[in-house]
Amino acid sequence: MKTAEKQTSFSTPPLQVKKTGRKGHGVFASAPIAAGSLVVHLSGFVLPTHKLRADYMALQIDSDMWLCSRGGRLDDMINHSCRPNTGFTGGGLKLFALLDIAAGEEITFDYSTSLTDEAWSLNCLCGEKACRKTILPFQHNGPAYMQKHLSLALDYIRKLYATSHRSTHARQA
Ligand SMILES: [Zn+2]
Repeated sequence: MKTAEKQTSFSTPPLQVKKTGRKGHGVFASAPIAAGSLVVHLSGFVLPTHKLRADYMALQIDSDMWLCSRGGRLDDMINHSCRPNTGFTGGGLKLFALLDIAAGEEITFDYSTSLTDEAWSLNCLCGEKACRKTILPFQHNGPAYMQKHLSLALDYIRKLYATSHRSTHARQA
């Protein structure tokens, strides 16, 4: 008899793509996901900014580097939320559950936690009470936001902004 496999927090949970109405497609949990679990490991090919194409899906992963795909894959369809239920808590290209996620709940992350490109902004349709209305590069959301969200951001953003308050002090000295 086979022993039932114990679910570990590092196995990707079952997810499914569904239509969400005004946001187009979205990714939904098809089973409950415990807080702290790995939800999605993002993947694709890496290009510098000048090689981006309008028909590629692109997620910024460094000052001049983007994780790209030709679209249509599950990890391309994860929508932004100003009150997300996943984040880059490890600093790498993995989204972890920030809280317990129920079956049927949409998976979201905060696009600002991957972005610093000055040219980038997008109207937000997340519908949360605390919606920022426009999704902006990380550094344009204000110091309170930056401090609160650094632990959800990609490593390169942590490196860019973790020391920013220190350099401000240095300039004042
Ligand atoms: Zn929003």
